[in-house]
Amino acid sequence: MSKIKIKRFDSRREPNTIDMEYPLFDGLTLLSLLHKLKNTLDPTLSFGGVCRSGVCGSCSVMVNGKATLACSYKANNGDYIEPLAYHTVKRDLIVDKSKTKQTLVDSKAYLQSKLIPENAPKVEVQSSCILCDSCYSACPVMAVNSDFLGPFALTRVYKYTLQSEQNNESIDAVQQNGVWDCTLCGECTAVCPQNIDPKMDIMNLRSKSVQNGYSDPNFANMSFGLDFTQGF
Ligand code: SF4
Ligand code: SF4
Repeated sequence: MSKIKIKRFDSRREPNTIDMEYPLFDGLTLLSLLHKLKNTLDPTLSFGGVCRSGVCGSCSVMVNGKATLACSYKANNGDYIEPLAYHTVKRDLIVDKSKTKQTLVDSKAYLQSKLIPENAPKVEVQSSCILCDSCYSACPVMAVNSDFLGPFALTRVYKYTLQSEQNNESIDAVQQNGVWDCTLCGECTAVCPQNIDPKMDIMNLRSKSVQNGYSDPNFANMSFGLDFTQGF
C-alpha cells in the first residue's frame, strides 16, 4: 500500500516529535490529501492552508527536504513531510512565522520616498511574493546565522529601492546580517513558487549598497595571497 510519512509535533506529548505513516490516496495534491486524512482518519492532524490555489502562501511545508506549497504539489508514495525549516513549530506542520515577518520590519522594507509610477513594471515579479517562507527555509545561511534577514526581506527591500526616488534607510538596514552575508547559492531562487529571483535581487542590492558608499566587509579580511605583516 502506498504511504506518506508526516513528522508530527505536539509540545504536550512525550516524546513530542514522532513520525507517523498515513495511506496515500492517489491523484490528490498534498493539501487535499492532508484534508482527507484529517477528515477520515486523524482529526488531530494539524496543518495550514487557506486558498488551495497557490495565492495565500500558508500551506508551505518541507517535502523530502525541499520547501514546497502543499496545494501545488501532487503527493507521491514514500514522501516525507515536515514543517518548514528554521521556524518554531506550533503543532505538526503549523509554524510560527512571526520571526520571519519581523525581518521585513528589521530591514525597513517599506516605501520611504515618493513613488516612481513608471518603475512599477520593473518590480512586477517581486510584487507577487506571497510570503510563503519557502525561500527562508531553503537558505543555508539560516543554519549558521539566525539573525540573517533572509531572501524575501532583501527582495522586498530591492523592490522598494527600485520603486521610489530613494530608500536609503533600508540600504543602511541591510548592511548587517543582510546583503553581504548571502552566499549567492541560489537555493532561494530554486524554490520560489512565484519565479522571484532573490539571489539576483541581492546582487543588485549589493550594487546599490556600493553606490551608497558601502563595501563588502569580507574584503577587509582577505589577504589575496599577500603577507601584510611583512610590510611593502
Ligand atoms: S542565495 Fe543567499 S539568500 Fe538565497 S538561499 Fe542562498 S544564501 Fe540564502
Ligand atoms: S520570495 Fe518566493 S519563496 Fe520567498 S516568500 Fe516570496 S513567494 Fe515565497
